[in-house]
Amino acid sequence: MATASFDTARREARPVSPIEKAPEVTALATVPGRKRSLVGLTRADLKQALIDIGVAERETRMRVSQLWHWIYVRGAREFAEMTNVGKVLKAQLADAYTLERPEVVSEQVSRDGTRKWLLRMAPTGAHDHNRGAEIECVYIPGDDRGTLCVSSQVGCTLTCSFCHTGTQRLVRNLSTAEIVSQLVVARDALGDFAGQMPSKDGGGEVGRLVTNIVFMGMGEPLYNLDAVIDAVSVMSDQEGLALSRRRITVSTSGVVPQIERLGLEANAMLAISLHAVRDDLRDELVPLNRKYPIAQLLDACRNYPGVSNARRITFEYVMLKGVNDSDADARALVRLLKGIPAKINLIPFNPWPGSKYECSDWERIDRFSEIVFNAGYASPVRTPRGRDILAACGQLKSETEKMRARARMLMEEGLGAEGFYAGGED
Ligand code: SAH
Ligand code: SF4
Repeated sequence: MATASFDTARREARPVSPIEKAPEVTALATVPGRKRSLVGLTRADLKQALIDIGVAERETRMRVSQLWHWIYVRGAREFAEMTNVGKVLKAQLADAYTLERPEVVSEQVSRDGTRKWLLRMAPTGAHDHNRGAEIECVYIPGDDRGTLCVSSQVGCTLTCSFCHTGTQRLVRNLSTAEIVSQLVVARDALGDFAGQMPSKDGGGEVGRLVTNIVFMGMGEPLYNLDAVIDAVSVMSDQEGLALSRRRITVSTSGVVPQIERLGLEANAMLAISLHAVRDDLRDELVPLNRKYPIAQLLDACRNYPGVSNARRITFEYVMLKGVNDSDADARALVRLLKGIPAKINLIPFNPWPGSKYECSDWERIDRFSEIVFNAGYASPVRTPRGRDILAACGQLKSETEKMRARARMLMEEGLGAEGFYAGGED
């Protein structure tokens, strides 16, 4: 279970908006009388679950391996499927636990194959009215990869001024199991578990549809780092879900003190939500900058464990009309990142009801991207994906009909969400 590790706001003398809001919930509970699901657990937690129902310690290693295979390679939904587990143990397991996944409340499929799921987590107590918190999870298929965008928290305590998630009231950390379950649900829905469907290359191997994970859904992953580290380890276990750590990207708004630990313990790829090249502007867009300014953030990037030209850091930069999108900004961006093995993702701003920004014009993004490209960085704006179902991060919970016509037109012209999901190994 995740422990809450929310940071506290530093009080400033000047009258500014708070860096973050207090989380509504800091601890999770299992609702009494409700069986716990084993899906999403780490090996250590599975072992404990076995011990709790009386399995002898000396047997646990083998039993954990069996469960691990059934849950993460085969995608088993019933204990009865586990043919190499004895009848008695199967009955004991079914008595105490389930193999339930989060409920799929809705699924939307875009014309281009992008899928967005609204998932309802198991209830965790009175704060979610015993109904279960809801999060979104998006799958973006590509020619050579399939990327799943997962959430690390319900909502976010931070208050980035351009982000819809930051306005949500209910905030809590997701547990490791809740994070991993998003991948399990995606594999269920895509038929991406062993034996469910031949893989797209016909090789019959598993895990070929979802190849990359980006932590770019709801929440600040580095405020829930324990759970994120464990989730990365379950997702990358080669005897289970078997993704490569080089294909798992964690995006942060800049929680400097946790960046090194992410590298050391998760060994994941790093993405930084930079969005501005000057502290005064970044203070406004990403208020956490007042605590950890740009220079400190870039130092942490230079020292990120494992960073190299083969393992570059992705810098995300949301294009806000008249705010951060000038030629001078582009040149300053290139200067700022000098010496850091970097990729830059220019993200067209996705409007949401009540947002105070507009997306930069197409010509402006083009020009900005040209300056960045000429300085030697990979092409930053990509083909739009899932635009017809609003599958873009930062749009979570917004409604199509409320989008400004202009923004929709921009998206139709070739801007979209994929830039968000371009993390990880190419
Ligand atoms: N909290 C983490 C990860 C989730 S946000 C972070 O901030 O990095 C994923 C990405 O979407 C971030 O780069 C974020 O800045 C960006 N984003 C948020 N709202 C957006 C919006 N309305 N339009 C475009 N990008 C947005
Ligand atoms: Fe939170 Fe990231 Fe949104 Fe900022 S951009 S409010 S850190 S989810």
